[in-house]
Amino acid sequence: MARRFPGGRLVVATHNPGKVREIGDLLRPFKVDAVSAGELGLPEPEETGTTFRANAELKALAAATASGLPALADDSGLSVAALGGDPGIYSARWAGEAKDFVVAMQKVHDLLQAGGKDGSRAHFTCALTLAWPDGHVETFEGEIHGDLVWPPRGVHGFGYDPMFRADGHHITFGEMDPDEKHAISHRAVAFRQLIDACF
Ligand code: IMP
Repeated sequence: MARRFPGGRLVVATHNPGKVREIGDLLRPFKVDAVSAGELGLPEPEETGTTFRANAELKALAAATASGLPALADDSGLSVAALGGDPGIYSARWAGEAKDFVVAMQKVHDLLQAGGKDGSRAHFTCALTLAWPDGHVETFEGEIHGDLVWPPRGVHGFGYDPMFRADGHHITFGEMDPDEKHAISHRAVAFRQLIDACF
């Protein structure tokens, strides 16, 4: 039986503004007093894990320990089948110091072209961890599968959204209304499990 969130303040353990926005939207119906790690001035731990789960747990635990509050962290990324699962846990790092996802998307496209491919199957994964200051963690994972398109399309979302078209949809996440993305995304899938188990 999962441990329940006791109510009150919750640290959203991310410095990524796109994720703060999405997690804030997902938490809104649950009347949680959410504060971001950035607002609390918490340091960003190095992501030394080799899986999404390990990195989500490391980030949530670091924020819970430093703040003395329950903390929620997300580790996520895009895995491209024709690139052997890359960029995967390195999705943010492919955008470089400048966090430029135009560059990261171009890199995906160039590598696909170099391998004689125009597009590829791909999926987003999200591991969500709720951690407590005593070291307890609850972790949930979600995926969404689709195809990559080129050139990137749309101005919504963040990261690799403009080049990802989820199965059953003819527009990319970048073109999709944010509410529609939030209803079907990898983060939403993981989030529903978290809510069922812990809220
Ligand atoms: P990290 O979890 O902070 O290591 O970063 C994950 C990276 O994966 C983000 O910076 C994005 O590039 C990418 N990513 C994760 N979720 C999404 C999404 O919903 N849309 C687009 N890109 C995403």
